[in-house]
Amino acid sequence: MKIILLGPPGCGKGTQAKSLMEKYRIPQISTGDILRSAVSDQTPLGIKAKGFMDNGELVPDDLVVQIVEKRLKEPDCSRGFILDGFPRTVGQAESLEKSGVLLDAAISIEVPDDEIMKRLAGRRTCRKCSAMYHIMFDPPEKEGICDKCQSELYQRVDDKEETVKNRLIVYRNQTEPLIEWYSSKNKLHTIKGTGSIKEIFNNITEVIDSI
Ligand code: AMP
Repeated sequence: MKIILLGPPGCGKGTQAKSLMEKYRIPQISTGDILRSAVSDQTPLGIKAKGFMDNGELVPDDLVVQIVEKRLKEPDCSRGFILDGFPRTVGQAESLEKSGVLLDAAISIEVPDDEIMKRLAGRRTCRKCSAMYHIMFDPPEKEGICDKCQSELYQRVDDKEETVKNRLIVYRNQTEPLIEWYSSKNKLHTIKGTGSIKEIFNNITEVIDSI
């Protein structure tokens, strides 16, 4: 089962991908998480990626494509995977296809811009396990502390208002064309990304189970 989750920042891709990973027992591959960990470890990749990420720009295709191609060769991907945040450009999608990876479905989660601004302004992320919370809609039991691993929660630099605005522009210009691209390949399924996390999850699993 090879699935990609598409959608603007804050649409719930990461949250849904984590639940899908548990249900279908296939790995979630989040290029954002891989890049953030490279930045925090100050690896050569992280050093190259940091400036783009802090400004809400996309990291160049060649760097990201290399990471994903390497990751997909690992044994845990043999039964399938959920790509979360990749591809983000038509160029990345074409590279994935050229490398022989054919997807079963591209699931696009749609959320209006004003809702995204609200979600991301209150989003807090765990430094260690990347679990996500919202200070109002989904707060942790103890303020600032991850329920799952007790590590510190922080606000991503790119979740600040100005950067979120830029990420939305980048999404519309560079990522949204993928919706048409996957639609032309009859792989696109569109899901409403508002409502409860459980409702959205059920809608996604309904699509997956019908493939
Ligand atoms: P995310 O956690 O998916 O919101 O990604 C955070 C940031 O990582 C993005 O704003 C980009 O700077 C970078 N990034 C993640 N995935 C990609 C990708 N597929 N292509 C280019 N940049 C990416």
